[in-house]
Amino acid sequence: MSGVVYLVGAGPGAPDLLTLRAARLLAEADIVFHDALVHPDTIALAVRAEKVAVGKRCGKHSTAQKFINKRLIDAAKRYGVVVRLKGGDPMLFGRAQEEIAALETAGVTCEVVPGVTAALAASAELGISMTQRGVVRSVAFVTPRVGEGEDPSDWARALVNSDAGAIYMGAGQAEAICTALLGAGKPPSTPVVVVENASLPEQRTIYTTLAALPRVVAHEFAGPAVMLLGEQFRARSRENGLDSTLSAEIFARAASASRR
Ligand code: SAH
Repeated sequence: MSGVVYLVGAGPGAPDLLTLRAARLLAEADIVFHDALVHPDTIALAVRAEKVAVGKRCGKHSTAQKFINKRLIDAAKRYGVVVRLKGGDPMLFGRAQEEIAALETAGVTCEVVPGVTAALAASAELGISMTQRGVVRSVAFVTPRVGEGEDPSDWARALVNSDAGAIYMGAGQAEAICTALLGAGKPPSTPVVVVENASLPEQRTIYTTLAALPRVVAHEFAGPAVMLLGEQFRARSRENGLDSTLSAEIFARAASASRR
């Protein structure tokens, strides 16, 4: 048997934010390897498949990437339709390239099915465009996370050089993000919106500024969170009565709520 491995985007969380192609492949799949964050209703679309969680969850136990690659290659020898289901879009901070390379080396056919990425799901929920006309002409997708053995990156510089940005895998590092961005010359008053669990019923949104970010999001997030930056959020932040002083109050409220 020489199966095909499909790297499929599961979208940001809501199970109906899935492409028709993804739904069809899940229905046809013999085996599905899925991330921990994929919604159970999405996994349930794989009616006939064996389901294997290989999930990575920030800071928690994860299955080593090499081991996942090997399992995909082995599965392609045994099954016709192998689906690797990843949160959001598989090609955006999803380590898809490592899987593609390993599959290519092993001579396994591989196809990618895109998905709705977290930042764009968050922007949709807010009703604020990441490329608001006349305000934003460039958007940087960045992560401050540097994997083991990787070169350091100048992600902060990328955000300074772009009108707007989306920070992935950064929710636990608010202090470091603030320091790096202020140091690189981003204005302290830059509006920041933190969206946790975008597209899910338990979504939470926090409007703040770069300077106030560490105080506002010093607490833990239970779910995944993406940070969006840019002037397009300033009007909404004002509507919410938020400037950097008020953001500190919000934090105090959030902190006392989480202690309760
Ligand atoms: N490939 C995924 C990103 C994987 S990296 C995508 O395209 O969305 C994991 C990071 O994505 C998390 O740390 C968080 O920053 C972000 N993320 C994923 N799902 C999210 C959601 N529902 N709401 C907010 N952020 C999310």
